[in-house]
Amino acid sequence: MSTTRTKEDFAALISKLSAFVDNEVIPSEDLRNAHDALAMRELTSTLRQRAVTQGLGNPRRPVDEGGLGLSWEECCSYLEQAGRSFLGPGALQCAAPGQPDIAALDRLANDGQRQRYLEPLMRGEKYSCFAMTEPAPGVGSDPRMLLTQARRHGQGWVIDGHKWFISGAMHADFAIVVARTEAGVSWFLVDRDNPGFEVVRDIATMEPFEIGGGHGEIRLNACQVGEDALIGQEGKGLDYAQIRLEGARLFHCMRFIGLASRAMGMAQDYAGRRESQGMRLAEHQMVQAMVADAHIDLYAARLMTLDVARKLDAGESIRHHSSMAKVFVSEAVNRVADSAVQICGALGVSEDLPLSMILRMLRPFRIYDGASEVHRSAIAKRALSKGLAA
Ligand SMILES: Cc1cc2nc3c(=O)[nH]c(=O)nc-3n(C[C@H](O)[C@H](O)[C@H](O)COP(=O)(O)OP(=O)(O)OC[C@H]3O[C@@H](n4cnc5c(N)ncnc54)[C@H](O)[C@@H]3O)c2cc1C
Repeated sequence: MSTTRTKEDFAALISKLSAFVDNEVIPSEDLRNAHDALAMRELTSTLRQRAVTQGLGNPRRPVDEGGLGLSWEECCSYLEQAGRSFLGPGALQCAAPGQPDIAALDRLANDGQRQRYLEPLMRGEKYSCFAMTEPAPGVGSDPRMLLTQARRHGQGWVIDGHKWFISGAMHADFAIVVARTEAGVSWFLVDRDNPGFEVVRDIATMEPFEIGGGHGEIRLNACQVGEDALIGQEGKGLDYAQIRLEGARLFHCMRFIGLASRAMGMAQDYAGRRESQGMRLAEHQMVQAMVADAHIDLYAARLMTLDVARKLDAGESIRHHSSMAKVFVSEAVNRVADSAVQICGALGVSEDLPLSMILRMLRPFRIYDGASEVHRSAIAKRALSKGLAA
């Protein structure tokens, strides 16, 4: 817990946030404009202003800069509440890609970059995206396969490459582009209006809400940037990506626990009302088993997330533990949402309830921020090479 906030103050904050999500954010979810990126952006921005007026929002930003200054541990409860709605993370300024980009730039940006990119991003005046992934044969799960190149040119750099599935690209004012230089993998800031920066298309995915600016395909065509576009040190890009991802995937875990919990709440409600063979679904043991397993999954998911958050607060390395938490939580929330759909029958797969959309929102989490298989492989290699006790 942060030192200046009492337990009671924090409980009051979470209860106020919960009421805001229930009374203002969830009722704003309108499935009819879920695919309208512009409408979603306007809606999120309106909700964000309401959140700010009520003293909510921006959990990690320091208090003297207008944020809540929450510790990672405190973020677990906060983001679970924010994550109960599709619109919550955007409204409460804890959504990807903005939040992890802010965290990374806060550690790495020089004074000029802070002023031009980080500060407007933190104030919600600018939007960012993080461009690493490339179509085959470029980088996906294996970071060594990065093909985008940045060459020194006069006082600056020229970048050539092809990126895709870049979250937020459709609305981003600038991108953090990951490219290979002579010194290794490096990060560059590229403005959207750079003539060499082309947003080719928004790639439609199974995600139900067009929040956060879609998932764009980008081409960098002899894209010229200045010397000051380099972020941090040349050649350190893979280390930076790890740091960015560790916090990002933890935030995803927190948010998606909220969404899965909401799904199971709806399923429990349905099971309490709906009858089959002369009794309520809630009285059928096979339905009870699904409910029980969901509670066990979410309990374990919360504890793992909390443990990693505490390690981050203590400044400990979370590489191994955040991998384990990411695999477990991403799979657990999918099991929970899938059971919620099953319990609700046909209604569960319809769009009359948001359950099918929750399931679609959660599924990609088993792939991005490191696919389950890649994390399992890394966990096992670390355990076996270092002789770690299970
Ligand atoms: C919704 C969404 C948002 C995204 N946002 C961004 C973004 O903002 N910025 C960005 O740069 N990227 C983003 N990505 C891309 C994401 O980072 C990649 O999808 C991820 O790194 C996996 O790469 P890939 O899709 O190329 O899968 P591939 O590398 O082609 O792997 C496909 C599958 O093969 C298996 N596999 C791969 N490697 C191994 C291995 N070593 N061991 C065992 N099995 C393996 C896994 O099952 C994996 O799912 C996003 C993706 C999605 C779906």
